[in-house]
Amino acid sequence: MNTKIQIKDRFFTPYISRDEIAAAVGRIASKMNQDLAGKNPLFLCVLNGAFVFAADLFREMTIDSEISFIRMKSYEGMHSTGEVKQIYGLQQDITGRTVVVVEDIVDTGFTIQQLLQQLNSHNPKEIKVATLLFKPDSLKCDVKPDYVALEIPPAFIVGYGLDYDEQGRNLKDIYVVSE
Ligand code: 5GP
Repeated sequence: MNTKIQIKDRFFTPYISRDEIAAAVGRIASKMNQDLAGKNPLFLCVLNGAFVFAADLFREMTIDSEISFIRMKSYEGMHSTGEVKQIYGLQQDITGRTVVVVEDIVDTGFTIQQLLQQLNSHNPKEIKVATLLFKPDSLKCDVKPDYVALEIPPAFIVGYGLDYDEQGRNLKDIYVVSE
């Protein structure tokens, strides 16, 4: 677990091991099993980056729960934050339901903020946010994830579903870019 790897033009060093990730996912899953019991929550995995995390998290759930998959796609438009993203792939009627958004990273928070605004317009009962990684020092929005597996400083990471230019999602551990 101390080998530098190369993906395209950049080098990455090991940062968070698969064992640490599994322990962190287990911790938030236990909390969620307690908090969300009896609510039959609908997990919404935000593709692509969250698919590995969502698969591991969902298999730790011991309560009645469902899972589905959505995507945030950018579209052209003027917005105070620059890029505007819209939800694609929401099939379920979420009216009156407990929804758990499963994200890979909350960085500036813009993506999750736009996602929450759009999901809220469908009148769910409540929305919880579960994220694998949270970069609190990068946050620029008034959003706070409910379940955070791991907090990290601002740095670019890959692995465990997260990519660098579409590569590296298959890495079992999390790596950080090295200068
Ligand atoms: P935000 O809108 O919170 O700034 O960004 C969220 C999205 O940016 C994440 O869902 C992820 O796709 C991408 N992102 C942010 N930081 C990183 C990072 O360190 N590595 C990778 N691979 N993607 C990141």
